[in-house]
Amino acid sequence: MDLLTRLQELETLSRTLDPSRAEREQVLNAASRYANDFVDGINDLPVYVGNAGTGEGLYDLPIAESPRPMASLLATLRSEIDTPGINPASGGHLGYIPGGGIPHSAVADYLAAITNRYAGVFFASPGAVRLENLLIRWMADVVGFPETTAGNLTSGGSIANLIGIVTARDARGVTAREIPRSVVYATTHAHHSVDKALRIAGLKECPLRHVPMDAHYRMDATALDALIAADRAAGLRPWLVIASAGTTDVGAIDPLDAIAEIAARHELWFHCDGAYGGFFALVPELRARLRGMARADSLIMDPHKGLFLPYGSGAVLVKDKPAMLDAHHYMAHYMQDTADAREEASPADLSPELTKHFRGLRLWLPLQLLGVAPFRAALEEKVLLARHFHHAIQQIPGFEVGPVPDLSVVTFRYVPPRGDADAFNQRLVQAIHRDGRVFLSSSLIGGRFTVRLAVLAFRTHLEHIDTALTVLQDAVAHLQES
Ligand SMILES: *Cc1c(COP(=O)(O)O)cnc(C)c1O
Repeated sequence: MDLLTRLQELETLSRTLDPSRAEREQVLNAASRYANDFVDGINDLPVYVGNAGTGEGLYDLPIAESPRPMASLLATLRSEIDTPGINPASGGHLGYIPGGGIPHSAVADYLAAITNRYAGVFFASPGAVRLENLLIRWMADVVGFPETTAGNLTSGGSIANLIGIVTARDARGVTAREIPRSVVYATTHAHHSVDKALRIAGLKECPLRHVPMDAHYRMDATALDALIAADRAAGLRPWLVIASAGTTDVGAIDPLDAIAEIAARHELWFHCDGAYGGFFALVPELRARLRGMARADSLIMDPHKGLFLPYGSGAVLVKDKPAMLDAHHYMAHYMQDTADAREEASPADLSPELTKHFRGLRLWLPLQLLGVAPFRAALEEKVLLARHFHHAIQQIPGFEVGPVPDLSVVTFRYVPPRGDADAFNQRLVQAIHRDGRVFLSSSLIGGRFTVRLAVLAFRTHLEHIDTALTVLQDAVAHLQES
């Protein structure tokens, strides 16, 4: 066979990758029907399904040379993926930190995928990069960072923490030789992605001081000051303090203003983790509590938490743009044509990624289509729902609660008249999971097994909180009998 004949053959085969308009519409319509059925039926689905297998049916569809029909693939998607486990799109998801999934972002993802704009480099797609930087500046404005802030839209909070910490490391000159005497400060309630980031950044051997917390599980700023002073007196080099604007465990806001003041006085880099809590700055009532975020050197926030986006959206803001560039910028010969465009910083120069998804569109489109007002309202609603639950659960005999929530996480446990309370609450959480009407999770807080209710799903409204109260009452009654 000659080359041209073979080329014709290959073209015919490879053309299926580029379907006709009618074919595209067919696939899209099937997907759209699936999505609409899913959303319309969401309140009839359990929030947690523990008895529908673990996706083993996927083995029946090995990747093969030949095509399979869309209908059978959607059926598999439903039974093997969208049924077992937690349904994070449900309003009854009240565990961990619930995620979002607003449909407008899905539409934006679709468009970003079809046009496949190269959003890593300004030269390649100036509009896409400008849009992402514009969103960074909008977020900077929300939290009180200056106009000159640099930042990056990441896949989530973990990578955002990594970028912030790597920037801090290089800005403070924490080289290998300095590591053993370069001290980091955080509480035990700092998110574990911070520890992970420190390790990935090669900083595992930095002494890490766990700063004590007060009765509300907020960092004790006086203790921080004393620890730093003691370390300095001992000839060590304190360089980084990591505080939380909303801890994952209990939703506590560390005293950010006091921490900022101490960090400035001792010349530490102040990294603030607002993955969960940062966007609550949109709520007027909470702005004062979160004001100290503005004084951090670097800050992270997760649009896939606080702005209800689908998973895959975090953000990091850094005040010192040259420092962020220094820590991430590289140049390759094959990219020499891209070097001149300096009007807007490129994501590739501010993060570990080169090629990246055009993440900005999934944030920009809903903010534009809906305006900020519904996001602000939803966040305030979540805070008030958490307060409502905190109050209501105390009216049920036997329950004891943690502090009034700073944000939208409530901790509580049932104290049984006899027997081991930890074991009882463990069984309580298992009973809630079996019930499936709502999903709650637990944590070990102050060494005690504690149940958590976290309100952040955009579909969570008063009815879901009332269901949670009913489920808890039913479960306790049931466990008391058995
Ligand atoms: C969720 C969370 C993270 C990690 O973010 P991912 O988006 O899950 O990677 C970090 N810090 C806090 C406080 C969080 O709640």
